[in-house]
Amino acid sequence: MKHIACFCIPAHGHTNPMLPVVAELVRRGHAVRFYSFSEFEEKIQATGAVFVSCDAFLPDLTEREESGLKNVSTTEMTIQDIRITLRMDAFLDTEFKTFQPDVVYTDSVCFWGKLNAWKHHVPMVVSTSTFAFNQVSSGYMKQSPKELADMIFGLPKISKALKTLHPYGYQVKNALSLVQSDNQTDSIVYTSRRFQPYAESFSDHYLFVGPSVFSKAEPKKEKEKSLVYISMGTVINDRPRFYSSCIEALRNQNVDVIISCGHTIDSRTLEPLPDNVRVYPYVDQLDVLSRADVFLTHCGMNSVSESLYMATPMVLYPQTSEQHAVAKRTKEIGAGVALKDDSVAGIRAAVMEVLGNGTYKEGAKQCSEDFRACAGTAGAADFIETAPHPSDGFDMIAELNKANGRTQLLYWLIACAVLVLFGLLAGWKYVWILGIAAGVLSSPVTKAMQKKRYEKLVRKQQKSKTETET
Ligand code: UDP
Repeated sequence: MKHIACFCIPAHGHTNPMLPVVAELVRRGHAVRFYSFSEFEEKIQATGAVFVSCDAFLPDLTEREESGLKNVSTTEMTIQDIRITLRMDAFLDTEFKTFQPDVVYTDSVCFWGKLNAWKHHVPMVVSTSTFAFNQVSSGYMKQSPKELADMIFGLPKISKALKTLHPYGYQVKNALSLVQSDNQTDSIVYTSRRFQPYAESFSDHYLFVGPSVFSKAEPKKEKEKSLVYISMGTVINDRPRFYSSCIEALRNQNVDVIISCGHTIDSRTLEPLPDNVRVYPYVDQLDVLSRADVFLTHCGMNSVSESLYMATPMVLYPQTSEQHAVAKRTKEIGAGVALKDDSVAGIRAAVMEVLGNGTYKEGAKQCSEDFRACAGTAGAADFIETAPHPSDGFDMIAELNKANGRTQLLYWLIACAVLVLFGLLAGWKYVWILGIAAGVLSSPVTKAMQKKRYEKLVRKQQKSKTETET
């Protein structure tokens, strides 16, 4: 029997995929303590794990901080995570001493889980509730100007906050090292290798287990009328105007509609409802998806994974950069269309396009089969039981970094030679313009070279795999 300490931030999308794995660990006879918050108590207790309340360590938020969190500001989330880590320090010191975990299973952005595993030298397995994002796959996330500004202007605040961790024995280089997926950390990702962007850039410390769900139910789509399911997830779901547009778009169509609108808005404000539309604050999403023919989703990783698991094609309406990455990949594998226009007519056209074109259904079906062939909950539990894991040592990111260093050096040597030549031949007056141009071009050139190098490394990896197999 092992002692397993589980940690997660207070968010359903991060907590949910850990639960079936935790239930499996408990079933196998391990002592599991789950450090979480009262909102999640019931579902954690249902797994059989011991729920440890951390509510007392949540700081009181000012109005500005609260609105920052609501708007998913990376700076505000990082600052709050650091504050919670500091407030939990003494408590977790005692917990680690008394419970003596053999392994920590923690959400990838739960600072107090990761930092305490490092501080107390306990093997750690990270739970990655989105795609795994490293320097290559994060290219899938297109940050909005607002998100970029938040990150850039928040940097000094974040590095000041990170310094407050040092006296407590938490050694952190920078915020990125706390949240980015690296090739040395044992990590579970709840998708398949096929669906994960740039899967080959992740080392054998990664296990892609497929969606982590309690239901093993098969999709059952046979019925008279098509079913449209609409949800914006559990975080940014306060969108009454959008739900009204959906109702308007589908009221006279030959479809049934279920909307999950969240607890923030009063569903009665959307009334009177047409006969074919039902609105709930929360639904059993997997059950609805098993019957649904199209899912209009905000593209949270769990929602999209669950939809694909249940072979339901999607209309993609992402709100954050992470959700844009999930939407992009879903489109690439042919299981959905983007909602470019969220007007009544735009919503109707996108929903009808997915319902009327069998290719999206086929794309989702293929993905469902691929997901169901993954290691699943049992594989994730095996991985946690046997952590830490050895590795064959191949780290594509390290290889790419070395190559990038060489590319940069070569690029600037050539650029300097061109500048000097230009200066000597045409005079020095306008050399600065060329200098700026070289600076601006440096990033796209390096990125293009990195892509080429990545493809070369993938081919090399595949060749050596085939040679070993034969
Ligand atoms: N969910 C649910 N019922 C609902 C709405 C959401 O069970 O009515 C669950 C859904 O199955 C998923 C999670 O809440 O597991 C939402 O996670 P996701 O990553 O999709 O989005 P987030 O809420 O984190 O934005």
